[in-house]
Amino acid sequence: MEDHPSDTLPERYHRVMNRIAEAGLAAGRDPGDITTIVVTKFHPVSLMRELYGLGQRDFGENRHQEAVAKHSETTDLDVVWHFQGQLQSNKAKAVAQYADVIHSLDRESLLIKLADQDRHVDVFIEVNLTDDPGRGGVMPAGLPALVEKTLGVSQVTLRGLMAVAPQDEEPARAFERVNILREGILPLAPHATDLSMGMSGDYVEAISAGATHLRIGTAITGKRPPGV
Ligand SMILES: *Cc1c(COP(=O)(O)O)cnc(C)c1O
Repeated sequence: MEDHPSDTLPERYHRVMNRIAEAGLAAGRDPGDITTIVVTKFHPVSLMRELYGLGQRDFGENRHQEAVAKHSETTDLDVVWHFQGQLQSNKAKAVAQYADVIHSLDRESLLIKLADQDRHVDVFIEVNLTDDPGRGGVMPAGLPALVEKTLGVSQVTLRGLMAVAPQDEEPARAFERVNILREGILPLAPHATDLSMGMSGDYVEAISAGATHLRIGTAITGKRPPGV
């Protein structure tokens, strides 16, 4: 990714949105099938408002405390809230009170909490593409069981799979693995066809691989404040 440190937010936003549209056309995709979420973690609400003024509606956050504060400060905006951070079980109910989509469902203990509240939420199951079980995401071997359990919870709708490409793997290869995992669960969940994958450094590859939800931070927002 080229670095244009002196660019303004509108310039970065329009440049990335244009690249997304071009990559979509190049891949034979309908650009309307691709949702771009701008990840605003660690940035102030003023940045969200500026993006909203440019037409952005889908916003993503990683930490409950930050997200709930921003949500309460933007009730005048018509925003779709995405939560994509690692989620502690004891925060799941609280996140479901404002998040429209949770991208980081990765274990049954979260589902149990989501089943124990009234608000409906769309979910992606996050798959761990690394060999390290300590990272976020369910290991592929555990995916079918988690899909079945998710389908049994009426408060959630399973949209599909979410993944982060590992640092040490070509993103295109990693995203291909996600496609194979998705094919594997389609007999269980034929409607769970969405793919949440693609970040600032690999969204073009993700679009080629069929991503429906891009989660883009720094390429649009600029660098996050230091120390985070
Ligand atoms: C921070 C984050 C993003 C956005 O990352 P960028 O590299 O800044 O685009 C996307 N997905 C997840 C899960 C994140 O934590």
